[in-house]
Amino acid sequence: MYHLPVLKNRRTLLERAEKFISDIYFTDCNLRGRLYGDSCPLESLACFLTPKRITFSEASKQIFDPCKVGDTFGPTWWTCWFKATLKIPESWRGKEVHLLWESDGEAMVWRDEQPVQGLTKEGEKTSYILSECLQDEEPHSLTLYVEMACNGLFGAGQGSQIAAPDPNRKFSVQRAELVVFNRDVRELLTDFEMLVDIVKELGEEEQRGYQALFTVNEMVNLCDPSDPSSFAKVHSLAGTFFNQRNGESQHTVHAMGHCHIDSAWLWPYEETIRKCGRSWVTVIRLMEKNPEFVFTCSQAQQFQWVKSWYPGLFSSIQHYVKKGQFIPVGGTWVEMDGNLPSGESMVRQFLEGQRFFNKEFGRYCKEFWLPDTFGYSAQLPQIMQGCGISNFLTQKLSWNLINTFPHNTFFWEGLDGSTVLTHFPPGNSYEMKGKVEDLVKTLKNNKDKGRANHSAALFGFGDGGGGPTQLMLDRLRLVQDTNGLPKVQMSTPDELFTRLQADSALLCTWAGELFLELHNGTYTTQAQIKRGNRQCETLLHDIEIASSLALYRNNTFPYPAEKLQELWRLLLLNQFHDVIPGSCIEMVVEDALKYYEDIRSGGAALLRDACEALVAKGSSVAVFNSLPWERLEVVQIQEGAEKSGLVLVRASSIGVSPVKDTPPVTPVSVTVQADGTVVMENGLLKTAINRDGTLASLYLISGNRESISDGCLGNQFVMFDDVPLYWDAWDVMDYHLQTRKPVAEVVQPVHVVSSGGLRGSVSFTLRISDKSTITQEIIMDAMCPYIKFSTEVQWAESHKFLKVEFPVRVRSPNATYEIQFGHLQRPTHRNTSWDWARFEVWGHKWADLSEHNFGVSLLNDCKYGYSVHKNTMTLSLLRAPKAPDATADMGIHHFTYAIMPHTRSFQEASVIQCAYNLNFPLRLIQCSPDTMPWSAFSVTSQAVILETIKQAEDRGGVLVVRLYESHGSSVTATLRTTLPVREAWVCDLLEKQDPNRPVQVTSEGITLDFKPFQIVSLLLIM
Ligand SMILES: [Zn+2]
Repeated sequence: MYHLPVLKNRRTLLERAEKFISDIYFTDCNLRGRLYGDSCPLESLACFLTPKRITFSEASKQIFDPCKVGDTFGPTWWTCWFKATLKIPESWRGKEVHLLWESDGEAMVWRDEQPVQGLTKEGEKTSYILSECLQDEEPHSLTLYVEMACNGLFGAGQGSQIAAPDPNRKFSVQRAELVVFNRDVRELLTDFEMLVDIVKELGEEEQRGYQALFTVNEMVNLCDPSDPSSFAKVHSLAGTFFNQRNGESQHTVHAMGHCHIDSAWLWPYEETIRKCGRSWVTVIRLMEKNPEFVFTCSQAQQFQWVKSWYPGLFSSIQHYVKKGQFIPVGGTWVEMDGNLPSGESMVRQFLEGQRFFNKEFGRYCKEFWLPDTFGYSAQLPQIMQGCGISNFLTQKLSWNLINTFPHNTFFWEGLDGSTVLTHFPPGNSYEMKGKVEDLVKTLKNNKDKGRANHSAALFGFGDGGGGPTQLMLDRLRLVQDTNGLPKVQMSTPDELFTRLQADSALLCTWAGELFLELHNGTYTTQAQIKRGNRQCETLLHDIEIASSLALYRNNTFPYPAEKLQELWRLLLLNQFHDVIPGSCIEMVVEDALKYYEDIRSGGAALLRDACEALVAKGSSVAVFNSLPWERLEVVQIQEGAEKSGLVLVRASSIGVSPVKDTPPVTPVSVTVQADGTVVMENGLLKTAINRDGTLASLYLISGNRESISDGCLGNQFVMFDDVPLYWDAWDVMDYHLQTRKPVAEVVQPVHVVSSGGLRGSVSFTLRISDKSTITQEIIMDAMCPYIKFSTEVQWAESHKFLKVEFPVRVRSPNATYEIQFGHLQRPTHRNTSWDWARFEVWGHKWADLSEHNFGVSLLNDCKYGYSVHKNTMTLSLLRAPKAPDATADMGIHHFTYAIMPHTRSFQEASVIQCAYNLNFPLRLIQCSPDTMPWSAFSVTSQAVILETIKQAEDRGGVLVVRLYESHGSSVTATLRTTLPVREAWVCDLLEKQDPNRPVQVTSEGITLDFKPFQIVSLLLIM
């Protein structure tokens, strides 16, 4: 074959082949220059601009004005609709004809009132195929519409991708014409490209690389771009190389089409709907031509959007789901953040998602799919298993800045011991292109060589959508079994996990959380979103409990199932992995805050209706307690009621209690010292507050212990410079810790607000800078074991980080943080790189630092960022990043945190209960004066928390109750109820009754055994 020997000059041969397919050099004579044949302009092009995203039928009725290729359209976020009339020349008979469309705005082609093709230059989709082989009987004259969004695949960032969008950008149409497309040239180009890539990727060590080099060189010798009759021989030469097969032991890559679409990020939610439409209609076109093509698609919310916006497309999707090509994956409503949503929120992500997939496609997902989230809670394995899912796919830990995660295929063991088979595609990407590089990377990076001989490769443009292309499919098809490269097959996730499971004997296990060593600023950025999430989680919790109780207090009460589902779905949507982390643009923040307002206002009405159904109407006041323990708390009674002001109320567990003023055993005393220091004491705690609001002392009376470290101050506000390397809203870097500056300038020194009795409190104001201030009220209530810090910050900083510190008199190598349905420990030292990497961590309502028999807990009502280093406990309060939202976190913020010293362990000291109390205020209800206190539920063990009470999905007369073990202990607990429960059954998190697990209901209640951190759901049949 090699008629003349070539010199041993790898470089010239390789570059010769590269130039032969270059789209820059020698296109006058090389193969690339022959990709397109004749072209012909459109007959006419006209357009109309609209600021709104409108339907096709509305758009098609508008008046279109003439325009031309080269014109620009805008501004950003508007939509330009084009009407294109075209006439295919008769002489193109037998040719493949494309509409070639190149615009820098993302576009959708509409034909016969249906979306038919997504076009995006950045996503390498610029062709709409009009005919594969033009016949006389095909229509030659057509009218098409093109809907062009005035944004790119990644929005409209100014300068860099994550910069805030430029509101005045213009978007141009650079090409719009008919062309003859030479399919045979395209196929040959793919042969050449793959061979050139093999030469490059296998390098100089592998002889297989040289075989590819000489093959491709000979192909250049034989190929005459101007003579298509030379192509067959060249193609067959390539085929000989590609068909030289692997041995049996070769690694198998399971290729899956994918299109990661962020539900909102650098563009608003509404644009995402169109991104789904553009991306998925393109997938359907590819499926029509490639019956082996498998496409994995997550996020029930996006399917729901497409169902309502593009019903025709949705039917096609249902068709290909049935055929097993279009594979819904993930099982969740959106690809949520893996750290911040509460345990119940995570359950609801799966409940809403799995129920949707089952209803629309007749199947539940078997794998959790979260390739792009910033860390994964240690409770996820148990939640997955409870939702019928035992496989998990992600890859984000490949972004770790400090340590390399040691596995690609492994068992992940959660907090309670549940395990799921987990796979990180070794190519470290969810948007591969089907190239040789992707396959070689997948093979080489695999950290479980010899343990797992199968890997996933997800291909298709992602983040902003786009998805797979025909070229990617062609590439993968060429190298299905080519010696020197891994074997490639199209697979479903189910096929991959089945293979991995079948050969899992040697796999390792990773226990506990999957902590991402990056993006640790996302626990704090966009504080209003975090607050909205926490408050709305709390509100929905209370509505569901009040409504469930109302069903049995008032038999005409209708459980608001539909409305609750609507509100839950809004909350779940905002938990998307660029929204709740705060890594989105200003427009998304506005939408998210509006959704929280919708939940608050819609929820307030539901809660009022439910609470009114719990009691007889009247002029007295009662409190509704949604927590499963009795509470004794100081509450503020509203003006205009029977009483106003503060009262100490005893509230029964999950129930209603009339407000009767209970005198405190010990009232709060407040004393101002000569030096301006204020001392407050309530019989449990005694604190000394300096003029600047710092705590000189926090004394635990029962334990006879000072909490604040010697010579240190509690409640110390500190500022840090906060300039990350790139990902502004996402990242806080380790070096920020070196820039610590205490906030010391007093504007208004501490002065007494409440002088004691039921409440003592002081207030003060500090200046952070000439633009920012902190005003805080430090509150000590009678009978309350913690001190509250009700805080208002006027915040106008740039790249600064505000935190508050409590250096405490505790020595422990570990601190404890609340997570979903439990807690975990993280080190307080920096021994290893793994410890050091966790300099900023997330937690939910509390964190605790304890030594034997004494500890201090730091509680909060809407914060998620913590750090505990040595004996200093720090709560992260506010950041000020400028990208992608230049206005992030500017303005006024309100939040409350609390400090709670305790004896014994935090479990025995009821820290968990106190953190719930801080977050779930007693709700006031108007009631008749003869209202008696009553309780619907209580639990005998303090370790077990009754978290959720709701009506079962689609089952009136049945309640779901969800409990979890919160101490990390094995216990037996009895759930007591005054509701008329006839039967009880254990069910899973999707509320599926376990027919083998009836639960005995006795006059004592329902007795259950719990393992550490176990979640138990019951169906209570009335
Ligand atoms: Zn993403």
